[in-house]
Amino acid sequence: MSKRRMNLLLILVVSAVMILAACQPAAVTTEAPAVTEAPVVTEAPPAITDTELNVLCTPQEEWCQGMKQEFEAKYGITVNYVRMSSGEALARVEAEKDAPTFDIWWGGPIDSFVSAKGKGLLERYDSPNFGNIREPDLMKDPDNMWVGVYVGTLGFATNKNWLAAHPDAKAPTSWDDLLKPEFTDQVMVAHPSSSGTSYTALCTILQMRGEEAGWEYLKQYAGQMASFTKSGAAPAKFVGQGEAAVAIVFSHDIVNEIDNNQLPLELTFPAEGTGYEIGGQAILKGAKNIQAAHLWYDWAISPEGQALGPKYHAYQAPTVNGVELSHPELISQANLIDYNFQWCGENKTAFVDKFTNEIANAENLKQ
Ligand code: PLP
Repeated sequence: MSKRRMNLLLILVVSAVMILAACQPAAVTTEAPAVTEAPVVTEAPPAITDTELNVLCTPQEEWCQGMKQEFEAKYGITVNYVRMSSGEALARVEAEKDAPTFDIWWGGPIDSFVSAKGKGLLERYDSPNFGNIREPDLMKDPDNMWVGVYVGTLGFATNKNWLAAHPDAKAPTSWDDLLKPEFTDQVMVAHPSSSGTSYTALCTILQMRGEEAGWEYLKQYAGQMASFTKSGAAPAKFVGQGEAAVAIVFSHDIVNEIDNNQLPLELTFPAEGTGYEIGGQAILKGAKNIQAAHLWYDWAISPEGQALGPKYHAYQAPTVNGVELSHPELISQANLIDYNFQWCGENKTAFVDKFTNEIANAENLKQ
């Protein structure tokens, strides 16, 4: 078992114990209360004058919409959001760096946030809620330019009707299985230029196989695709509808399609190892509604904010303590590699360009 996986499993167990402990009745004490000194009067924080917040939202539409409504109801600040996949979001933030439309970017694998930090597009924020983070060394930027808001693992979704019609075929349980002849033109994944999900898959391969063998594998993998989609989660839906046999997507998106849309999908993980994402958030340099952005940032790393995910069919694992995991098996069943977010983030532009120019272009992506 990798060190990273052991850590994540340990965190699961510790969280469960903490949640149980929180449910115990408070101990009754008969001691007289200690005499307390007069309370220290601290200055009141400045009143919030922002009336709106512009969010660049990368998770699925339903969760973006749900978080908008929850935030508006809690803080009385209007949220305007646009949903964009990670690669599009990064390109937009870069294009608007001198006059940003958005105040905060919420969601999508942190590889893109690491890349954005390197390009000077993010604003540091020292949140008072950083103490909530489960594994700060992994889930928070050392310079406080971004923080993790969820964790998701990469898996395969295979159409059960396709399996029934192909009795000699099995749902893939390794990356090599995707190259089998029965899966030629039967695999779907998003394009890494638009999608953080797909970039996570690409960088997983490069880490597991090394660059030379990794790029060779990626050429063959691209040759197996029925099509590339724009958004990372879309292949699970298309495969569930019978457009291809296997999708490479985050496992929580597969669970969503099975549980909420009743699509006939079987979830498997590559046994030799799979990549995972830490979904991030960051304040954008030049944000106009900085007070509102701070409120969102703090709320999104509070147990209250993170407990909202399953209400909107988002089954990622939380990054903060004190929230029960909706689907712990999505972490415990996956053999997670020790994903190097720094390396993948720093090389994101170069690796995506290489894939696009030398392996598969980004024209006519399936929507
Ligand atoms: N939607 C969900 C549910 C996700 O978990 C993620 C990953 O962070 C994304 C969307 C990211 O989308 P994309 O792969 O299109 O960048």
